[in-house]
Amino acid sequence: MVPTVPLSEDVSMPRLGFGVYKIPDDETAEVVRTAIEAGYRSIDTATLYANERGVGAAVRESGLPREDLFVTTKLWNTDHGYDAALRAFDTSLGELGLDYVDLYLIHWPLPALDRYVETWRALQKILADGRVRAIGVSNFQIPHLRRLMDETGVTPSVNQVEAHPRMQQAELRAFHERHGIVTEAWSPLARGGDLFHEEVVRTVAHKHGKTPAQVVLRWHIEMGHVAIPKSATPERIAENVDIFDFEFDSQDISGFATLEQAKRIGPDPDILG
Ligand code: NAD
Repeated sequence: MVPTVPLSEDVSMPRLGFGVYKIPDDETAEVVRTAIEAGYRSIDTATLYANERGVGAAVRESGLPREDLFVTTKLWNTDHGYDAALRAFDTSLGELGLDYVDLYLIHWPLPALDRYVETWRALQKILADGRVRAIGVSNFQIPHLRRLMDETGVTPSVNQVEAHPRMQQAELRAFHERHGIVTEAWSPLARGGDLFHEEVVRTVAHKHGKTPAQVVLRWHIEMGHVAIPKSATPERIAENVDIFDFEFDSQDISGFATLEQAKRIGPDPDILG
């Protein structure tokens, strides 16, 4: 059972979800079914991923009550602006084949385009209409968040940003904590690979009888993040959700602190757009 974090009085979000970036649409339903069977209750997709159909099919055919699952999708960069955002949401809901989305995010702020405040007002309208249960943003930096809050008075429930042991986002996380914004980590495993060979990661994994991927994901839970790892391999899908039977001690936390390099894998949100 994956623990949850409250987003509002009546909306809770699982602290571990399943990311489906780069999973082809025709394979997505099967992979998401595997994830749901392994215990995931939250799925993270986006218009960009072009697999909302597969996600929706898996949710509808899961046999679980709709309210037991948490579906996130995101507004793509070409859909900024009030009317365009409303249309984009309609399209996403149609692709998913669902009555509502749990969380709708603005994928990137695109500061040079300077339309994210207008887009944010559209998300508030969708929320007021009851077609989404919570609204948030992705890849927003502190000045972008401040502007949304100052100009509209509405704080995003979630900011989904690149975060992993090599990009720990301490300043942004502290800002989120002050304002009640949930930090959701994308690429939580730093896409695997050499992070798993770090001495600290291997030592903590060995100590707890867990894999490197599991201790990296547990680090996110210890930091208070929501994490959304991706895998298309059934064994890894199951491995990545099996992180709720152990905890870090202070030595593990300080070991992971040494991995910080402030190094992004993805684009810089201030520059993109
Ligand atoms: P990730 O850190 O989740 O890494 C995924 C990769 O790690 C896999 O493809 C696999 O190669 C490896 N891996 C996964 N589990 C493993 C295991 N147990 N053992 C060994 N290797 C393992 O990176 P991601 O896919 O980039 O990010 C996860 C999700 O975050 C995406 O699917 C998407 O939903 C979201 N995302 C959002 C944004 C955004 O701008 N909002 C950007 C990128 C990703």
